[in-house]
Amino acid sequence: MKQSKWLNQANGRLDRIIETMHNDGLRRLKVDKIKKIVGRIDEFSQENCEQCQALQQKADVLIGILEDMLRGKSINPQEYKDIYKELLTHVKKGHGLFEPGQLMNQWLVIGLLIGSAFMFLNLYSVSIGLISGIIIGAIFDANAKKKGRVI
Ligand SMILES: [Zn+2]
Repeated sequence: MKQSKWLNQANGRLDRIIETMHNDGLRRLKVDKIKKIVGRIDEFSQENCEQCQALQQKADVLIGILEDMLRGKSINPQEYKDIYKELLTHVKKGHGLFEPGQLMNQWLVIGLLIGSAFMFLNLYSVSIGLISGIIIGAIFDANAKKKGRVI
């Protein structure tokens, strides 16, 4: 799919932020992730998702907050968090995308719970459950990635 003018601009601004900001800041503020989400929002906007089209403006505000931060202006961290969450929630819930490792974590917990439930039968059931959960989670993660459903 062709990149829109909006995405080109947003990516340009994000790239400048990535070049300028310290690594711990980039990690803490999840700038890499924002870049990926922004790409997805553009993709779904072109598929006529009205919510994604509306979220483009929010993404611009989010990028603006990062730019303000680099200029040493005071920013509202809560606003940043809220917009980030709104964008992430929409691509996950609205478009069925997953975060990297999300399925692995979910299955690990499921395996652990099932394993613990059968501990009265077999002492090793917790380890077996855990390992099975990791294997199943890895398969689902790989599958979601193959289908392009990982953010
Ligand atoms: Zn959407």
